[in-house]
Amino acid sequence: MQLPVYFDYAASTPVDPEVVGLMADCLRRPELAANPAALGHAAGRAAQALVEAARAQVAALINAQPDEIIFTSGATEADNLAVIGTAWFRQARGRHLVTSLTEHKAVIESCRHLATQGWRITWLRPDAEGLIAPAAVEAALEPDTVLVSLMHVNNETGVVHDIAAIAAICRRHDVLLHVDAAQSAGRERIDVRAGQIDLLSLSAHKIYGPKGVGALFIDQERVRRVSPLLFGGGQERGLRPGTVATHQVAGMGEAFRLAAQRLPDEARHVTALRDQLWSGLRQLPGILLNGHAERRSGHILNVSITGVEGESLFYSLADLCVASGSACTSLSNEASYVLRALGRPAALAQSSIRFSFGRQSTAAEVDFAVEYVLRAVQHLRSFSPIDVPGA
Ligand SMILES: *Cc1c(COP(=O)(O)O)cnc(C)c1O
Repeated sequence: MQLPVYFDYAASTPVDPEVVGLMADCLRRPELAANPAALGHAAGRAAQALVEAARAQVAALINAQPDEIIFTSGATEADNLAVIGTAWFRQARGRHLVTSLTEHKAVIESCRHLATQGWRITWLRPDAEGLIAPAAVEAALEPDTVLVSLMHVNNETGVVHDIAAIAAICRRHDVLLHVDAAQSAGRERIDVRAGQIDLLSLSAHKIYGPKGVGALFIDQERVRRVSPLLFGGGQERGLRPGTVATHQVAGMGEAFRLAAQRLPDEARHVTALRDQLWSGLRQLPGILLNGHAERRSGHILNVSITGVEGESLFYSLADLCVASGSACTSLSNEASYVLRALGRPAALAQSSIRFSFGRQSTAAEVDFAVEYVLRAVQHLRSFSPIDVPGA
């Protein structure tokens, strides 16, 4: 087994070899290296054909039409375009948005930006298990609400929100719904039509595609338009000007095609590993599962460990690539705001570990992780005895 063991598939995934092959072709072969907007010659049309094929593959994974997909630089940009672009475009109708405290920073900071410009934001707080009740969404709607933005699967805890019920409420009140699906695409089934979703953000690198590319789905009947955030040429229907990066987009398309094929097998694979890890780790006295025990996606296990200090815990797990709630490992120097929003005290948010699994994860790696964590925690507790509940 190669150390350190990679358990951070929720942060990014290795690019699938088939995706790498296609991307390399796009970069190397002169006949595909043309500008996909150069429709006056055969090479430009060949590049455009690749882009359009990728658009159809991305659309297919979520049951959208190809012309409802706008390529962006990632889910961060897609979230910005959905939230700020919708707010700007609809500001004559109202300047109120509803979102939650456990969204990705791309949504949170977009909303905070709007708040500085005079929009009102309602920040929903999840329950202790990380879920937002659909009734709480309904209660937050006001006559001038233009958008509800809630994620499908939370990137820290893996909890799955009841998007279908929330979407039904948004439709009934004629409010648009944006869903950040960066963690769920390729891992959970998504059907924007059956699910009544109006805007949906996607990322390629969370599902074995390249970094630096993503997409925003915009329902053509219900939304039609949002305001662009960038200005330039007319690419991507004027919503995302700039030369389309053929190799990135083609790589995303191929990754999404593979994800559609492999979704059921992969979901089973990661869920089995997650359950194996949890049944090993739960022997540890004073370990807590973060997030709802059932309503969660198979690829993430997030735990907090009592009786150890977050930073020491993190540094004693050097052979594991995991995400930690400890402030020292975050860009913003704060303990996980997601776990804090679930009501976890700062110390428990700090001593949390997120394991996430993917295509290459194995049962042997999980066995190793169980042993390794148990030993590290026993060691830490042995020289800084703190009362451990249940020990
Ligand atoms: C990773 C992630 C993003 C950001 O995606 P990028 O493509 O890296 O910009 C947004 N939302 C969620 C839920 C994510 O997990």
